[in-house]
Amino acid sequence: MDKDSVPLRLTWDIHYRCNFRCPYCWFYKKWASEGRRYLLLSPDEWLRHWLKVRNRYGETDIAITGGEPFLYPNFIEIIKILSLIHRIKITTNMSGDINTFVKEIAPNRVTLDLNFHPLFSEIGSFIEKTLLLKKAGFRAGVCYLAYPPQMGQIDIFRRRFEETGINFALAAFWGEFEGKRYPQSYTPQELDFIRPFLGDIDRIVYHLGAETPRGKLCNAGYTYAIVQGDGYVVRCGQLADKFIGNITDEEFHLFDSARACEAEFCPCNEYVNLI
Ligand code: SF4
Ligand code: SF4
Repeated sequence: MDKDSVPLRLTWDIHYRCNFRCPYCWFYKKWASEGRRYLLLSPDEWLRHWLKVRNRYGETDIAITGGEPFLYPNFIEIIKILSLIHRIKITTNMSGDINTFVKEIAPNRVTLDLNFHPLFSEIGSFIEKTLLLKKAGFRAGVCYLAYPPQMGQIDIFRRRFEETGINFALAAFWGEFEGKRYPQSYTPQELDFIRPFLGDIDRIVYHLGAETPRGKLCNAGYTYAIVQGDGYVVRCGQLADKFIGNITDEEFHLFDSARACEAEFCPCNEYVNLI
């Protein structure tokens, strides 16, 4: 793969802090320890580091996640300046100040992935905020997790979103519920039901019959990487403690080519980086 022809994709975990406590969250038992991995920088300081990325690797697709990104201090200002030099996607629980966001941010450089968490969000105001984004020209769809205890509400929520013209997708649950591992434990009926809304069906099919990726060549670390809350950069979520460097290092570099995978499993959609 020629890096010059493929834009770099970085996931940026801007911090590990959130105002929700979803029971299915990756961080559910780790908020206190992960929350300490925190780098508080001003918009200008972030601009300096992200300019370095731009100068070295060109315009990059940055997927900002967390925690809840809108809770990061001066988040909207950071997006305003970063979106001038990179393309941005934000995953959010929609508890942030969407009114100010639509006034300050240009919709052609920023898309949003809106995660609806029914234990903490009220659907009426969630729809209002989503329509505000759409009216301002943002590309934004709603994603709902097919978590076993909340599967019974899928149709109700789907109808509410779709009747207002909002795209509705499901994500499969990866984790344990009542002693069973998912997605392996979805029944055939449940899989049939969720399949039409599942953006990540390829991922499930890939993983349910997958062999280990260990030793196979992978572009993670080369054309893709994760910037963690304290600035450390890793190839992917499975190799979260193998640091390549830190985005604040002046000489920060990614790998010069694809390298062999060092992990036993690849349970996220990062498997798309495998060659
Ligand atoms: S909103 Fe997202 S980051 Fe926050 S607790 Fe829920 S799943 Fe985790
Ligand atoms: S195959 Fe998956 S786990 Fe292995 S390096 Fe690539 S992204 Fe990481």
